[in-house]
Amino acid sequence: MAVREIRLLGDPVLRQKAEPVEEVDDEIRELIDDMLETMYDADGVGLAAPQVGLSRRVIVVDTREDDVAPFGLVNPAIVETGEERERGEEGCLSIPGLKEIVERPSRVVVEGLDRDGNPVRIEAEGLLARVLQHEVDHLDGVLFLDRVSALKRNMLLKRWKKLRK
Ligand code: ZN
Repeated sequence: MAVREIRLLGDPVLRQKAEPVEEVDDEIRELIDDMLETMYDADGVGLAAPQVGLSRRVIVVDTREDDVAPFGLVNPAIVETGEERERGEEGCLSIPGLKEIVERPSRVVVEGLDRDGNPVRIEAEGLLARVLQHEVDHLDGVLFLDRVSALKRNMLLKRWKKLRK
């Protein structure tokens, strides 16, 4: 396992639509292991493959909740969203230093493949639902900044430029 370099806002890979994985092989399992290690190293709760420079549909999640074991998910798709929406603070390992309240559906059902290529279905609420939506967004080139008002986004981008100096 190895910690990979996390790509930051401004890197074009973060804005690409990631390619589906055709076969869950050893290369993908190694990617999942590296992504988990990279996520823990950066003290995050989720990471998507584009964040380590690979435009593939792979995410890892560990919400540090007692009833949720860390997992990798290949080709994840949100197949159901609840009607209720919830506001919660989000940050992103690709935009360190910035946090903002983002409103999202409070419940989602996500389907994908596990690290052995077996189909899985995850019914998620609360933090897990939020993290899954945030990570699946990454696979479509969407960042949490895109989910806040234009006014807030401009403020965040100004702060980001200051932080980067
Ligand atoms: Zn993120």
